[in-house]
Amino acid sequence: MTERIREFLRSRRESGIDDGPVLVVDLDVVRDNYASFAKALPDSRVFYAVKANPAPELLALLVKLGSCFDTASVAEIQMVLAAGATSDRISFGNTIKKERDIARAYALGIRLFAVDCKAEVEKIARVAPKARVFCRFLFDCVGAEWPLSRKFGCDPEMAVDVLEHAHRLGLEAYGVSFHVGSQQNRTAAWDEALKSASSIFRACADRGINLSMVNLGGGFPTKYLKDVPAVKQYGRSIFRALRKHFGNRVPDTIIEPGRGMVGNAGVIESEVVLVSKKSDKDEVRWVYLDIGKFGGLAETMDESIRYPIRTPRDGDAMAPCVLAGPTCDSADVLYEKKPYDLPVSLEIGDRVLIEGTGAYTSTYSAVAFNGFDPLKTIHLEARD
Ligand SMILES: *Cc1c(COP(=O)(O)O)cnc(C)c1O
Repeated sequence: MTERIREFLRSRRESGIDDGPVLVVDLDVVRDNYASFAKALPDSRVFYAVKANPAPELLALLVKLGSCFDTASVAEIQMVLAAGATSDRISFGNTIKKERDIARAYALGIRLFAVDCKAEVEKIARVAPKARVFCRFLFDCVGAEWPLSRKFGCDPEMAVDVLEHAHRLGLEAYGVSFHVGSQQNRTAAWDEALKSASSIFRACADRGINLSMVNLGGGFPTKYLKDVPAVKQYGRSIFRALRKHFGNRVPDTIIEPGRGMVGNAGVIESEVVLVSKKSDKDEVRWVYLDIGKFGGLAETMDESIRYPIRTPRDGDAMAPCVLAGPTCDSADVLYEKKPYDLPVSLEIGDRVLIEGTGAYTSTYSAVAFNGFDPLKTIHLEARD
């Protein structure tokens, strides 16, 4: 929570237009986060993962700072181009693409594509001749609070065949990628993944194919309730692991931070709509906010991400609550298996601040489920 965000929310309330939840993002924080990544991993190029928050103001800032961009669709590519980036700063990093979207991306100048199987390589070879491809391999996400499934990537052994196939079809077999799982708290996760990456490099070299790039993915955490290691520590750990597995032939590297770039830059202000109990004997209150899973807090699915919540009554006695959203869908409960401690004095109409919500919120919010508006967002411009 920055002074600027606090000031903005105060004046919004005074002007009487504070109906409904709002996400406020301080772009000064994003600028500082970018600088931290650039400093911690000076030899890696930053490809911001656009899906984390694609706001035009944020993309324009990152373009100005020199960032590159990881995109997942033609629409995201167009947003990044509209923000002023040239096509050589954009990768099409989704492994699941329609052939006509690959062709559209190619027509827009995109030359860097992700794959994880031969069928995808064939699509690219047909409509994006001579493009660069990197193969994503599977990695288990132990230590990640938002683990990724087996949806993306192939076994490391298969990655060698996929890259050889690309080479034979006239594409540039450029390298490999992986993702250690989002909100990854273990800096050592990259060491294990880089071991697999180096074995793919060696197996490809044995077949006469020289790879040159490792995409280290995202996964860098933002602070929610627990402390997380600083970006500097991730940088050191990754540097050591690259040395250990690649010796003095360290490849070019890319990082794709999403959450770590914008998570801590945003705060959602929400209002308590109702506080109730299901029976007189109940110890646990139900607290209903005007935002829930369908309003942007989808990452509370399985109670994975626990956001820090501040109230005007912090300091009063606390008691556990079930926390829920305002819609008529029973899935719209944020925390129940593990109730959330909030002040006993909390009342209907109180404003609460949900921190660390700059990533994976605005675009997750539904267009009009139950008639609720999509999450309003405000981006406070970065100062020079
Ligand atoms: C979502 C995504 C990222 C960003 O992950 P974070 O954990 O938010 O840093 C990076 N790379 C790819 C390919 C992704 O799909």
